Parts: sequence; structure tokens; C-alpha cells
Amino acid sequence: MPSAEPPTLNVAIVGGGPGGLGTAIALSCLPNVQVRLYEQARELREIGAGINIGFNCWKILELLGAAEGVRGHLAQGTLHRNGLSGDVLTTAPKSPLPPRYLSRRVRRTRLQSSLVAQVPPGVIHLNHRLVSLQKLERGGVQLAFENGAVAVADLVVGGDGIRSVVRQHLFPEHDIQFMGTTIWRTLIPLSSVAQIDTMGHHTNWWHGTAGHVYTTIVDDPAEAAPGDDLLFEIAARNVIDPKQAKEKRFSWGVPATNARVLAHFTDYDPRVQDALKQVPEGGWREFSAFAGPRLQRLVGWDRVVLIGDASHPLSGAFGSGAAFALEDGWILAQALQYTRLSPDAITHALEIFDQIRSPYYRRMYEFLDQQKANVAKSADEASRRTFDANLAARLKAFDGQGLAWVYLNDIEQVWDDYVQSLEAKD
Ligand SMILES: Cc1cc2nc3c(=O)[nH]c(=O)nc-3n(C[C@H](O)[C@H](O)[C@H](O)COP(=O)(O)OP(=O)(O)OC[C@H]3O[C@@H](n4cnc5c(N)ncnc54)[C@H](O)[C@@H]3O)c2cc1C
Repeated sequence: MPSAEPPTLNVAIVGGGPGGLGTAIALSCLPNVQVRLYEQARELREIGAGINIGFNCWKILELLGAAEGVRGHLAQGTLHRNGLSGDVLTTAPKSPLPPRYLSRRVRRTRLQSSLVAQVPPGVIHLNHRLVSLQKLERGGVQLAFENGAVAVADLVVGGDGIRSVVRQHLFPEHDIQFMGTTIWRTLIPLSSVAQIDTMGHHTNWWHGTAGHVYTTIVDDPAEAAPGDDLLFEIAARNVIDPKQAKEKRFSWGVPATNARVLAHFTDYDPRVQDALKQVPEGGWREFSAFAGPRLQRLVGWDRVVLIGDASHPLSGAFGSGAAFALEDGWILAQALQYTRLSPDAITHALEIFDQIRSPYYRRMYEFLDQQKANVAKSADEASRRTFDANLAARLKAFDGQGLAWVYLNDIEQVWDDYVQSLEAKD
């Protein structure tokens, strides 16, 4: 039985999103692991607006020591409305969860800062855009960056998001496509919409004929300095048949004019249009939703692992992708710790990672396939139904029914159960 302390494991993480940062935190806690994180941006800044943090995300943030740094807006009794008439269709029921696990809407920058604060100094290398990866005959993987730098690692973690360069190298045949959904997002001072009925009090989903507009506060009052305004988020989404898409460019965080955004929501309730008009010119960012098929495996070359959006390009389908990315990194760290004294420790750890995370993502893809089939089945009926009846059908997707395995996932429990199942086999 080998028992000597293993040599230092040299890990390169590509990408400084939630997945990469969470992995850096979890791996930095392990003995004999040297971690470097390479991020393409010159500075770490989030280009999204807000993000929902629910039970599964709070759990993993606690494990990473990053939960305390995040508060956000506690949305009680979120309203779903007919976006055209403004009529309230449903009110989200009160959650039975303890207060610290309730869903909150958080500024993405705040989540990012809280994670960065837990990453040891010297780990993050900015301005390093990965351009190629090469498996070395002598062992290890070579990473080449746009700035001319080259690095070699025993293990590469691809946390480089939905357009992952790491994934392209590992699985060159894999491709992603435009899904027909365009999202415009912004954060504006709450004071600019406070005079519009309901905006300053409720989180609202305004459901229209071809998408929806989501409006909410994103700050907890305790987060604002005295005299500072809270911020308000608008995320407006338009959906078309992807086959009808004229523009094939991949817009991700690019500025959009007010006229371009407003043109898609002219039939909405005047309160929505009023709120959209409060956004200063240059305040909108446009995101095109791309997605790709499920990967059979999340690991390759015995030395590379994909995490987060790189591993399951679902375009934020469950609104919980940050939690998934953080869970991936934590499980990887547990697996490496578990196998560190065994021969072929990395290969063994990657197998464990894949055994836990691949079936989880397969289940998500299967769920979405089923949902798509249900929608297709009702498409004919829908064309004969009124807008109101269609809305009722669409709202079913928001009730979270049957999705406790996503939103109430407790990753620590998942790991404990896995280890127990291994030990039961021995
Ligand atoms: C409209 C929308 C709404 C969403 N809402 C929610 C929500 O409410 N809650 C939630 O949990 N999730 C939400 N998500 C999903 C969530 O944003 C993602 O799942 C999450 O950010 C994935 O984290 P990641 O670290 O895997 O990737 P990313 O956050 O995409 O980070 C990837 C990082 O890699 C860097 N990078 C990319 N390529 C390279 C390269 N070649 N070299 C070096 N660095 C590189 C990027 O600059 C980036 O910093 C939403 C997504 C969308 C699109």
C-alpha cells in the first residue's frame, strides 16, 4: 500500500468565472497542490447583471467560505404577470427553507468579489487567453496563451465557459448553436424606477408573447453605503425560431441601443415600457443564448477535466449554472484528495469526478428534452389557444416541480453518499 507523500500536483485552471474561482479555492485547501488560474480578461469583472442564488448555491458557497460575503435581495412573493395586461397570474409561495438558504438576487460582481477574496494571493494570472492545449508525451499538458506565455501542468481544469477552448481541444467534433433567445440585461439605480407602480416593491416576471421581462432589486439595504442607491435589474428576453435568425454573430455582453431593446417590447404593460425607458443610452448589454449537445464524458487525455458551462453547454437553462460550476470544482477537489495516495491518482480522481457529475448533467439534458417534447406536443393546441391559455402552460415551467434534485442539491451529501457507496462495495 503506497503511503509516501505524493509529489506536488501542478494544476492549471483556465477561466476565472464562478467555476474557475471556486475550483481554485477548493484545490488551494489541499496539501501538495500548486494552483494557477489563467483568465483572459485584463481585470476580473462580471458583465452580467444579477444572479439568483438559491439553496444549492448557498450550500457550496458555505463549503468554500464565501457565503458570508454575499447578501443580495430577498424576493418574497415573486409575481408572475401577463406582461401585456399586467394582470397577476401567480405569486410564488413562501419557501419553508431556513432564512440563510432562501433564494436571493445578487449582483454578479458581489458573488465574484466574495469568491476572489477566498483565492490565495498569486494564484490568479490575468490577461492569459488560452489559445492551445497539447498533451505531452512525457506526461502533463502544455498550455499556450495569446500573450506568448507557455505553461505545463499535471492537470488542466477547463472552466472557460460556454465557448470553451479547452473543450474544443478535447472534443473537436462538439459544437454549439444559437438557440433563438436574445437577452438584454442592465443594472440601474432603484430610484430611477421607484415611482413606477410595483417596481420598487416586488420581483416581477412579465410574460409576453415571445419572451418575458424580469424586474427586481439586486441589493440588500445592508450592502449599500449610507446615502447610496440600491440597484435594480432588468433582464428582457426575446425568443424567435432559431432558423429565422438573420444575425449569426455571437453577441455576449456587447452594448445594445435603447431603440433595439425597446422595439421588442412595445406591446408590454406601460409600466414595463416606462422601466425600460429609464435605462440610460449605453446601459444595455446583449447576450445571445448558445447551447450544445451533452458530452459523453467530462474528462479526457487522462489529464483534463471540464467544469461549469464548459462541461454542460446549456445556456443557463436552469438559472443555477453558477451553483453547478462551483459544485464541479468542489467535487474535483474531494476526488483528488480521496485518491492522492493511490497510483494513477489523477486518472482515478477524474474517473470519480466523471462518475458523479456526468449522470447529473445527463439528467438535466433528459429533463430539458422531455420539456421540449411536451412543448412540441402542445404546439398544435397552442396555435388554437388564446394567449392566456398559453401563459398558463408556460408558467408550469416555473413551479420547480420535480426539480428538487437541482435546486435542493446538497453537494456535501452527494459526496458523502458516493464515498459510502464505494466503501460498501469494498
Ligand atoms: C441570461 C443568463 C442568466 C443566468 N442566470 C443565472 C442565475 O440566475 N443563477 C445562476 O446560478 N446561473 C445563471 N446563469 C448561468 C451562469 O451565469 C453560468 O452557468 C456560470 O457563469 C458558469 O460559470 P463558469 O465559471 O462555468 O463560466 P463563466 O462564468 O462563463 O466564466 C468563464 C470564464 O472563462 C474566461 N475565459 C473564456 N475563455 C477563455 C480562454 N480562452 N482563456 C482564458 N480565460 C477564458 C472568461 O473570461 C470567463 O471569466 C445564467 C446565464 C445566462 C446566460
